[in-house]
Amino acid sequence: MSSKFDVIVIGSGPAGYVAAIRAAQLGLKTACVEKWKNKEGKGVNGGTCLNVGCIPSKALLDSSHKYHEAKEDFKIHGISTGKMDMDVPSMIERKNNIVKQLTGGIAGLFQANKVTPLYGTGKLLAGKKVQVVDNEGKETVYEADNVILASGSIPVNIPVAPVDDEVIVDSTGALEFQEVPKRLGVIGAGVIGLELGSVWKRLGSDVVLLEAMDTFLAMMDQQIAKESQKIFKKQGLDIRLGCRVTGSEVKGKGKKKEVVVTYTDKDGNESTETFDKLIVCVGRRPYTDGLLSEDSGVKLDERGSIYVNDLCSTSAPGVYAIGDVVRGPMLAHKGSEEGVMVAERIAGEKTLMNYDIIPNVIYTHPEIAAVGRTEEQLKADGEPYNVGIFPFIASGRALAANEKDGMVKMIAHAETDRILGCHIVGPSAADLVQQVAIAMEFGSSAEDIGMTVFGHPTLSEAVHEAALAVAGHAIHIANRKKR
Ligand code: FAD
Ligand code: AMP
Repeated sequence: MSSKFDVIVIGSGPAGYVAAIRAAQLGLKTACVEKWKNKEGKGVNGGTCLNVGCIPSKALLDSSHKYHEAKEDFKIHGISTGKMDMDVPSMIERKNNIVKQLTGGIAGLFQANKVTPLYGTGKLLAGKKVQVVDNEGKETVYEADNVILASGSIPVNIPVAPVDDEVIVDSTGALEFQEVPKRLGVIGAGVIGLELGSVWKRLGSDVVLLEAMDTFLAMMDQQIAKESQKIFKKQGLDIRLGCRVTGSEVKGKGKKKEVVVTYTDKDGNESTETFDKLIVCVGRRPYTDGLLSEDSGVKLDERGSIYVNDLCSTSAPGVYAIGDVVRGPMLAHKGSEEGVMVAERIAGEKTLMNYDIIPNVIYTHPEIAAVGRTEEQLKADGEPYNVGIFPFIASGRALAANEKDGMVKMIAHAETDRILGCHIVGPSAADLVQQVAIAMEFGSSAEDIGMTVFGHPTLSEAVHEAALAVAGHAIHIANRKKR
């Protein structure tokens, strides 16, 4: 194999593998370096997203939702199930098989697109050289005209709750429990904490989420966050805001091990809570350990992310960085789009990426999804806006499906009517918000959506009605503003 490539990508998560495939599609001789190994010690692609992130978490969210629905909700449809059982190891195995299928799929895509996979640890040296130490310890140095760094992120550890992979776990460990913990603690009521807390709550755990911030889902539109909080409360998720964990102690032996967590509550009082398992979900940090030689020319910013400009160029010419390892939201699709942009620009195209329209989803039930700016951000920016709201309780399709909780909130500019944001908590919120994201990409006004014919009965009609409500003429609810 010649050791010179047009493009070498380090990291094959959703940022890196997409960049590699797109570069190869454009005729560039491309290699992708990946150090992740599966349980059998074999190199696998797909990064956090496919191995321990988006996909396995959704597999367990779906399994646990089906169980919970059958147990609690079928009766409302007149269906009785009798005594129900669950087999957690089978659920975990199903999840593992999905991961295997998808990670294997990336290897197939690499082959089909003629991307050279290099399994091992990559390090960027000066002059766009890449050192790869393969899984047998053999070192090779490759040259490239362009290098794309896509090394991703890892969970943040906090000294007050050190992960032991037995009683105290991070998000990866929480995807591997072989039985349902009776008492489950979660530190951090953010996206990942809510998703993993929901999985185990639905399967029967008593779940307590300890969140240091006083505000629930501070980055989301607060009307939607408050509505979500009410829904989670109804579901029995015990979310304690303003509670900062200050210590933890693992006690007992073998199966009887438990962890006593100390935290200060919102009034500053110290409390303790005992759990069988504790999941630490306090965020992720960019991962650059061992990635850069001292003379690589690539700089980090103050948060430890690789410093890049709007086009994902680093401070070293011909070296780019994308995905979780750079600024911006840590979302798989954000990294993938950066990958496409960088690959196409290397190939001489003028591709840009629209950072203003990146959908963001929390896959609880119901889902929480958002695109564009929140009402709080618009207020802070002094932008004039109108809001249209449509609650799912007024949607025929939602009622038919017994999915009455939540609402669609559409925000449009007060003068131009251009859609500035859409925030949803409710059934299929992720897919509904995507419709609005497409409309926003085309510069749509709320009126444009209002004038579009929507199929009946669909959940999408709630988006239509929220758009109509912006101008005060929704049909299926009383409008706040009449026209
Ligand atoms: P990663 O996926 O982290 O991949 C980086 C890869 O680089 C890894 O495979 C790593 O082994 C490799 N690597 C690092 N350094 C080197 C090196 N020196 N040499 C060789 N290889 C190297 N996002 C969503 O959009 N939707 C979701 O529903 C969602 N759910 C999530 C659920 C969980 C539980 C978690 C943990 C995350 C979730 N995320 C979700 C976030 C998502 O997984 C990340 O945003 C995404 O994986 C980032 O992609 P990336 O390619 O930048 O990095
Ligand atoms: P996210 O960044 O969405 O994954 O959310 C992580 C959450 O963890 C944030 O909301 C933090 O406020 C929260 N957090 C961080 N440290 C602590 C701590 N010591 N105790 C409780 N919550 C914490």
